Amino acid sequence: MKHIYLDYNATSPVRPEVLETMLPFYREQFGNPSSVHWAGRQVSGALEKAREQVASLINASPAEIVFVSCGSEGDNMAIKGTLDALKDRGNHIITTAVEHPAVLETCAAMEKAGYEVTYLPVDKNGELDLAELEKAITAKTVLISVMWANNETGNIYPIEEIGRIAKKYNIRFHTDAVQAVGKVPVDVQKANIDLLVISGHKIGAPKGVGAIYIRRGTRMTQFMHGGHQERNRRAGTQNVAGIAGLGKACELASQELVSYYRRVRALRDRLEDGISSQVPEIKLNGTPFRDRRLPNTLNVSFAYIEGESLLLNLDMFGIAASSGSACTSGSLEPSHVMGAMCVEVTLAHSSTRFSLGPETTAEEIDHVLDVLPTTVQRLRDMSPLYNCGRTAEGCETCETVRRL
Ligand SMILES: *Cc1c(COP(=O)(O)O)cnc(C)c1O
Repeated sequence: MKHIYLDYNATSPVRPEVLETMLPFYREQFGNPSSVHWAGRQVSGALEKAREQVASLINASPAEIVFVSCGSEGDNMAIKGTLDALKDRGNHIITTAVEHPAVLETCAAMEKAGYEVTYLPVDKNGELDLAELEKAITAKTVLISVMWANNETGNIYPIEEIGRIAKKYNIRFHTDAVQAVGKVPVDVQKANIDLLVISGHKIGAPKGVGAIYIRRGTRMTQFMHGGHQERNRRAGTQNVAGIAGLGKACELASQELVSYYRRVRALRDRLEDGISSQVPEIKLNGTPFRDRRLPNTLNVSFAYIEGESLLLNLDMFGIAASSGSACTSGSLEPSHVMGAMCVEVTLAHSSTRFSLGPETTAEEIDHVLDVLPTTVQRLRDMSPLYNCGRTAEGCETCETVRRL
C-alpha cells in the first residue's frame, strides 16, 4: 500500500540534499569544532556556514544565531534565560493560551517558581485581540512570548504588530517560529523580535537540532554550563552534522519559499475545498481567512465521530494525519488549542489535522478525497451520536452539531 504522509507539522522527512550535506560529518570530517588543528578547522567552517544560512533565512546576523538541540530547548532557554536575567526589573510574562507545550509548560514551571503569567485568550477562530495584549502589560512585564504560527490550526499571528507593542513598552519579545520558518516570510528586523526559535525536523532537517536567534546585546542567563561553545551562550560540543543539515534546509527554504507557498497552498486549498463540498457537517478549526493560515495546514472537525478512530481508519488506507498535536494524542483530553477556542467538546474530540509538505502531490490529495468521505460516513453510521441526532429530539450535543 502507498503511504501518504500528511503530518508535516509533527515532523518532516530529511531532504536528500540535507542528508548529502550531513554525511561527510559522520565519515571523514569527524573533528571537534573547538579543536585548533586541521580536524577541528574542517568542521568549524561548516558550523559558521550553517550559521550564515540560518541567519539569512530570517534576516539576522550569523553572530546572533545559537545552535541548540531542538525547538523545545530554544523555547526553554528564551523564557528561563530572559526571566532570570531581568528578575530585577520584573516578574511578569505575557503569552497566549494556544502556545506549544514547550512554551506553556515552561511558563507553568515559572509560575511555580514565583513568576506571574498572563495567558491571552483567543476567539472562536483562534485569533488574538491585541487590545487585550496591551491591557495585560504592567510595569513588571519583562517578556512577551507569542508563537508566529500555531501548529494545530495553522493560524498566523500578527507578529509585526506585537513587535511594535513590545518595542513601545520596552518589553522583550520572544516568538516560537518553529511552524512559520520555511513556510512564510520571517524577518526578525521587520517584526522587532529579540528571541526566535527554529527546529530542524519541522523543515526537512533531522531531529535533535534547532537554533535560537538572540538579538545582539540581549542579556540572558545561560542555563547549559560547561565549555565555551556558542559564544558562551550554550555549552556542549555541537551536533555538527545536524547543524550542517539545518543550514542546508534553511538555504533550500530561502530559495524555495515562494514556490513552496504557491504549490502547497494550492494543494491544501484543493483538500479544504474537496472536504467542504464532499463531507457534510464539518467545522473548520482556525481562521476562515486562508491568507492568515499557514499554507500547508488544515484542521477540521467531523461531527459525530472521534478524531482518533478516523485517524486509525485513514491509517488503514496508508494516510497519516493527526488529531490535536502529536504530543497530546494518546491522552483523552481534547487539545488545549481547541479548548481555548471554545470548540464544543465532542467537536474538539473529532478535530483532525492535515499538514502538507513539499513532497505532497495532487494525486495524494485526490486519493485522500476518494477515501475520506466514505470513511467518515461509515464511522458516522456506527456512531450512536449520529443516529441519536436523527431519531431523538432534545439531545444537546446533537443540537449543537446540527446548528453548524
Ligand atoms: C514541534 C514544535 C516545537 C518543538 O520542537 P522540537 O524540536 O520537537 O522540540 C515547538 N513549537 C512548535 C510550534 C512546534 O510545532
